[in-house]
Amino acid sequence: MYPRNFKLIWPSSLEEALEAVEAGAVPLAGGQSLIPMMKLRLIAPESVVYLGAIRDLDYIKELNDKFAIGALTTHSRIASELREGSPLISKAASEIGDVQVRNMGTIGGSVAHADPAADYPAALIALGAVIRAVSKNGIREIPAERFFTGPYQTALDHGELVMEVVVPKTACSVGYAKFTRIATDFAIAAVAVRLSAHDGVVEDISIGISGVFAHPIRARWIEDALIGKKLADEVLSRAINAEVVHEVISDPRASKEFRLKAFRAMARRAILEAYENSKV
Ligand SMILES: Cc1cc2nc3c(=O)[nH]c(=O)nc-3n(C[C@H](O)[C@H](O)[C@H](O)COP(=O)(O)OP(=O)(O)OC[C@H]3O[C@@H](n4cnc5c(N)ncnc54)[C@H](O)[C@@H]3O)c2cc1C
Repeated sequence: MYPRNFKLIWPSSLEEALEAVEAGAVPLAGGQSLIPMMKLRLIAPESVVYLGAIRDLDYIKELNDKFAIGALTTHSRIASELREGSPLISKAASEIGDVQVRNMGTIGGSVAHADPAADYPAALIALGAVIRAVSKNGIREIPAERFFTGPYQTALDHGELVMEVVVPKTACSVGYAKFTRIATDFAIAAVAVRLSAHDGVVEDISIGISGVFAHPIRARWIEDALIGKKLADEVLSRAINAEVVHEVISDPRASKEFRLKAFRAMARRAILEAYENSKV
């Protein structure tokens, strides 16, 4: 199907794009989610503002112990350029879809789209990343943990655009595990872990989850059960198999029971990967 007719706005600056968004235009970045939705007529915007015209939102800047990633930076660039500097976000980017999707899709588009099963959110939550949103009123910082508020819903207000995503340079050890039935698909369960350990004792850990609940969340109940402990099999199993208070989703790709099993297997894998990395 073709999208309904719409007006295309080609801004020459961020200010012009913000004017258009404030007036109700829908932002278009890599088009990997928006264009299919328009073709399927799930949405039919009257006007679309093409952010790809603002090339100065495509960057990775090093800021002391952090990287600021411009909203228009593609998944491919993040996967290749942050492999050493911030391996968890690089790994999440490399797991997205296929080469074409990674070459077109952008981090700003992915976080704004907020698919509950997308790869970045788990990693951003585990990393304690910050989403910087811009509007005509200025810039606002939103911690990743509070950014994803529901399925395809975010803390962005009307008139705001994702401007950049700020991730720490990773001094800690990290792990990422994603379960899908088809290699290039969205996660049925994805778990991202950032961990620091001393003499095998977990000193700090943060765990982000995508695909399992209505929106990506931080697994504080597992973190609390592991801090101050050595990760003996029994300790890890008890933490991972603890009762989950959040509602696990069920859809045609996986039942609730299957998804919970996949989540627990991915949690074990990602935590152990980060733990092993902490020993080297
Ligand atoms: C075949 C296929 C497989 C995929 N597999 C995966 C996968 O395994 N894992 C995964 O995580 N993703 C996957 N994706 C989605 C992919 O990551 C998209 O690139 C991403 O969801 C959207 O990024 P985009 O730049 O294409 O945004 P667009 O499609 O242009 O926009 C998406 C949404 O975000 C809004 N938007 C865009 N930029 C901004 C901004 N800067 N500020 C505010 N709002 C903005 C748009 O208005 C729209 O609502 C897949 C997509 C396809 C087509």
